[in-house]
Amino acid sequence: MRFLSKIARRTAGALTRNLRPYDMQRLTKTLVDRARPDSEQHDFRCPLCNYQGRFAPIFGSDAIRFSSECPECHSRERHRFLKLWMDGDPRCQSFGRFLHFAPEPVLSKELIPKCRQYQTADIEPGRADLVLNIEELALESQSVDAVMANHVLEHVNDGKALPELLRVLRPGGFAILTTPVIYAWAESYENAAVHGTSQQHLHFGQGDHVRIFGADLEDRIRAAGFQLETVCADGAMAARYATIRGDMIYVATRPPG
Ligand SMILES: [Zn+2]
Repeated sequence: MRFLSKIARRTAGALTRNLRPYDMQRLTKTLVDRARPDSEQHDFRCPLCNYQGRFAPIFGSDAIRFSSECPECHSRERHRFLKLWMDGDPRCQSFGRFLHFAPEPVLSKELIPKCRQYQTADIEPGRADLVLNIEELALESQSVDAVMANHVLEHVNDGKALPELLRVLRPGGFAILTTPVIYAWAESYENAAVHGTSQQHLHFGQGDHVRIFGADLEDRIRAAGFQLETVCADGAMAARYATIRGDMIYVATRPPG
């Protein structure tokens, strides 16, 4: 118990250290309102583990996301959205060689039985099967059937990463991509003067992000040579599975032949 209360004190300290008294009042009111066992709280379904019930809040980098995490399998909103989309798409019932960047365990478990060869990849040694830099892939051209890279593109130079993904995919192969996007912006926000964790957090919403994509993300994917399909998470899905309304999946296919 002493250990738990220490964690709770530290977490509260980290959350509130930089808040003014007025912000503290508002935060406290919000937390109390949200914690009330009334219409703010709902039972959701997890398509990954079939859990049904309440989901847990997540302290994101710049916001608290209520009903985000499945308490059973720890899936978050985008994992459930991807699972629901894959279940309904004939191309995702079985894969040949599948490459999963920055792999999320809850999705690995889902993908492994569907793949003839499933490999994970990360730029950091020890985190995945292959140590790969997505901007410069040490892989043969046309050697991969499908790729998944969730919330990777906002960390890297997409002008290098997207052509590399196209190169290693077989004709007709596809990349499943997700990333934060602000569609009200025609152009992505990049700023060459921004360096370092604190400035990147301030400008791009997280200390290791290098931009926030705007609506031109779609043009950037097409410009690399892909055919692009987009899938958008709708309101009914959010109400049942606690996905994020308007969340997007980008299915970038290397043109066949
Ligand atoms: Zn679950």
